[in-house]
Amino acid sequence: MRVHERADEVRTAGAGIYVYENGLRVLEAIGAYDAAVAGAPMAHTREVRDDRNRLIAVHRWTGSRVFSIVRQTIINALAAAAAGAGVEIVTGSTAVGATPAGELVLSDDRRLRADLVIGADGCNSCIRDCLRLISARRLLHDGCIRLLLEKTAEERRSSDGATTIEYWSGTRRVLYTPCSATDIYLALTMLDRDEAGKAVPVRKESWKRAFPHLEPLIDRIGEQGRYDRFELIRLRRWSAGRVAIVGVAAHALPPNIGQGGGCAMMNALSLAVHLDRCADVPAALAAWEKKERPITEHTQRVSILLGLPTTWPPRLRAIALALAGKSKWLTRQRIRTALHHPTGT
Ligand SMILES: Cc1cc2nc3c(=O)[nH]c(=O)nc-3n(C[C@H](O)[C@H](O)[C@H](O)COP(=O)(O)OP(=O)(O)OC[C@H]3O[C@@H](n4cnc5c(N)ncnc54)[C@H](O)[C@@H]3O)c2cc1C
Repeated sequence: MRVHERADEVRTAGAGIYVYENGLRVLEAIGAYDAAVAGAPMAHTREVRDDRNRLIAVHRWTGSRVFSIVRQTIINALAAAAAGAGVEIVTGSTAVGATPAGELVLSDDRRLRADLVIGADGCNSCIRDCLRLISARRLLHDGCIRLLLEKTAEERRSSDGATTIEYWSGTRRVLYTPCSATDIYLALTMLDRDEAGKAVPVRKESWKRAFPHLEPLIDRIGEQGRYDRFELIRLRRWSAGRVAIVGVAAHALPPNIGQGGGCAMMNALSLAVHLDRCADVPAALAAWEKKERPITEHTQRVSILLGLPTTWPPRLRAIALALAGKSKWLTRQRIRTALHHPTGT
């Protein structure tokens, strides 16, 4: 088994990540759990605050786990687990395409034969696109800047290192998440047409005008940060011959329930399980997709639904978010992916 990574090292962008029970089960199954969650707080409580910093909803995770983790920690844990399982990781190696016969084409013109090629090459997947697998790709109206902040002495001392807070102001949001003993993960979301809001380095004056009560926090932001526009991707099929598409390349979704990575990990483990069960690769891929597609598509639908209030007037949104926090039906929809038992766990 070999991974071709185009970057010159195995690194990640995006600062922090929430991993819920479903993703944690996958990490356990592949022996990466302890290293992935080392030093990460259990993110058991999430507050939602309105435009005037009033608390409008509190979500508590009880009976299942969720950690907020520095992304590089989880990537390192996954890379170590892969290496331990005998996987070779080749960095500085860029794929440009693949054929249904199981041929991987690299940018240096080499063509490598494999029993199976897996395209896990992100939203702009060239493996997926050369096989014409997309059925729908839609850029959404919002996006996000993500960055890490060093904890202050007070934050390090805090006994409550696990409450995350979502602050709203107009169409902007600040999501404050402690994610290690030393790091705070900050996600600033805004409409894509909000030029001042999406600028990197972050335009602090503009964000302080929107969130006067967060001035000390915003002042701590440095030059770093990365903006990504949200998008939604659906494929006609998740595979073609001996090529499978995994991760956001197959199912990009907005991060409103923090499950893009969770679905990617569930689908990757399930792919291994199905290949183990059935030697006929195309048949294994068809069975894999049939099994996993419903929960992935449910996750996409719920993420889209929970993003709708972004453009609503603040008062209506506050009412909707407060009701959403109390609705048993919506809570069930929101946590279904987190409570899903991934194949192979
Ligand atoms: C703002 C935001 C917040 C999010 N929060 C969460 C969260 O809290 N929880 C969660 O579970 N998910 C979250 N997600 C989703 C999560 O980030 C993605 O689902 C996850 O990163 C997908 O991983 P991936 O491997 O499919 O793609 P990527 O992370 O994009 O990785 C693709 C890899 O392929 C490499 N690559 C690309 N092209 C080539 C090529 N041609 N040749 C070789 N290598 C190539 C890239 O360098 C990269 O290493 C969030 C997403 C966003 C945008």
